[in-house]
Amino acid sequence: MGFAAIVVAAGSGSRAGAGVSKQWRKVAGKPVARWSIEAFFAAGARTVVAVVPASEMETAQAILGDLPGLIMTPGGATRAQSVMAGLAALSPADEVVMVHDAARPFLNSDHVQALLKGLEGVDGAILALPVADTVKREAPGNIETAPREGLWRAQTPQAFRAAPLNAAYAAWNDDQPPTDDAGVMEAVGGVVRLVPGDPLLFKLTYPEDFAMAERLAGAARVTRTGQGIDAHRLGPGDGVWLCGIKIAHDRELIGHSDADAGLHAITDAILGAIGEGDIGDHFPPTDPQWKGAPSHIFLAHAADLVRQKGGTLVNVDVTLVCEKPKIKPHRQAMREKLAEILKLPVERISVKATTTEGMGYTGREEGILAQAIASVETPA
Ligand code: MG
Repeated sequence: MGFAAIVVAAGSGSRAGAGVSKQWRKVAGKPVARWSIEAFFAAGARTVVAVVPASEMETAQAILGDLPGLIMTPGGATRAQSVMAGLAALSPADEVVMVHDAARPFLNSDHVQALLKGLEGVDGAILALPVADTVKREAPGNIETAPREGLWRAQTPQAFRAAPLNAAYAAWNDDQPPTDDAGVMEAVGGVVRLVPGDPLLFKLTYPEDFAMAERLAGAARVTRTGQGIDAHRLGPGDGVWLCGIKIAHDRELIGHSDADAGLHAITDAILGAIGEGDIGDHFPPTDPQWKGAPSHIFLAHAADLVRQKGGTLVNVDVTLVCEKPKIKPHRQAMREKLAEILKLPVERISVKATTTEGMGYTGREEGILAQAIASVETPA
């Protein structure tokens, strides 16, 4: 079942501590709002709408603007108004919509699948946890114990059929703003099903929640490593492309694209780390559109695939093997170019060079070899 998602990131989050709004604060190096947006895309969302504070559109653009397919829309004064703004940004083709609070970052595909299944035959399905603690109520002069049977704590995402949800919001006339979307649906008699939730979907509310999130983020991610090797033949020419830099030389590298063996090796290393085949699968050499193509396109595509999987590129290290040209004078320029293509700090990029002391095809200057390794962190 196709679905759209609305990630509500329009609050100021004042209880989470002073300074930046909590949806922009980082958990494990990644802004809170990005966690669930990336998770929705990884889970197959057709569209994701991020509802952001009207006064922070520029910040939102800087933090989320590179996510392909993301729609950003300004929110309202209340959560309900923000959800309605999100609904208005959807297309009529989006028949199923999930509404999610950005402050619950640890969303995964299993949650989404459980909701889609739970939505069968009803108007809405919500993730919720049974109340396990004994519940107390403050009373004058004492406390009293409240029955907890049948009580659930509602989480997000909450999944709905879009048409009844739109109708329910249009009909909402209570002075009190609703605290969740299921409440709006319930008010018009829409049938909502409870789906077992996940403690990991807790809401970041107080400063100490961020410390817990940092610990969980580390536990919920795995590091993967990939390697890539590429070689291209040398022929007559005026310079070689290596790691995105053209170095003047009396030869050039021969290949279908610009034959940048360095970029090809790094591209394969990244694809290897995420199990996405090799460069030829994504950019077949038989396809004329890649003839003479600048290889940074291939590398940027591999880095985008990592992000689409909710992953983060940790570092890359490439070794160029050739007698000539000398690489060392160009190393820093190569690192800076790779940093730009990969959107990584330059410290996370290493370029090394070696010779084979005259031995073999690199020694005879018949060609140049590149070998690379890349590490990525992805959701477990
Ligand atoms: Mg190649």
